[in-house]
Amino acid sequence: MSVNATAEKHAAHVLPPLPYAEDALDPVVSAKTIEFHYGKHHKTYVDNLNKLIAGTELESLSLEKVIAATAGKADKTEIFNNAAQAWNHDFYWRSLRPSGGGEPPAALKQWIDASFQTLDACKKELATAATKQFGSGWAWLVQDHGKLKVVSTGNADNPLTKGATPLLTIDVWEHAYYLDYQNKRADHVSAVLDRLINWGFAADNLG
Ligand code: MN
Repeated sequence: MSVNATAEKHAAHVLPPLPYAEDALDPVVSAKTIEFHYGKHHKTYVDNLNKLIAGTELESLSLEKVIAATAGKADKTEIFNNAAQAWNHDFYWRSLRPSGGGEPPAALKQWIDASFQTLDACKKELATAATKQFGSGWAWLVQDHGKLKVVSTGNADNPLTKGATPLLTIDVWEHAYYLDYQNKRADHVSAVLDRLINWGFAADNLG
């Protein structure tokens, strides 16, 4: 392949590096879960996306633009699902951290108090949304029209397509917790909120 041909070829979407070691979230999210969830599920969404958009007009777009261009289009569902899942998982890994939980940074705490009264009420809404989401999906803390809200989405859907700003997310597909918690989704979500949730990341995402 000539130098020019190489330069013209658009760089494929890449699997972003995990922001911590595979065993850093143990025991709430074990290294075994991350080995499959990040190394297989997340990677497969990125690989499938690259295959689906190769040679199309979507190939040169950012992940966010692929999501915007395919959302709600019946003939682009497979591309949307893989693009949104690639985005959601990168956002999810950064929504967690070793020794997370605790108190949010002051700027985020003000937003939480204004929108939910207390941090506990915010966590309770997140836990309820994550637990009640029927089947596969996501629970999100979002900033929307001047306040914070908790929303849940099914399958690959995310709040970007509704114009809200995601602050953090919890993956409640069974692959996120089944090896460690089996059918006990509520226990997993509670442990994530108390021990892993990355309030600093959410604060950084405030608009
Ligand atoms: Mn997942």
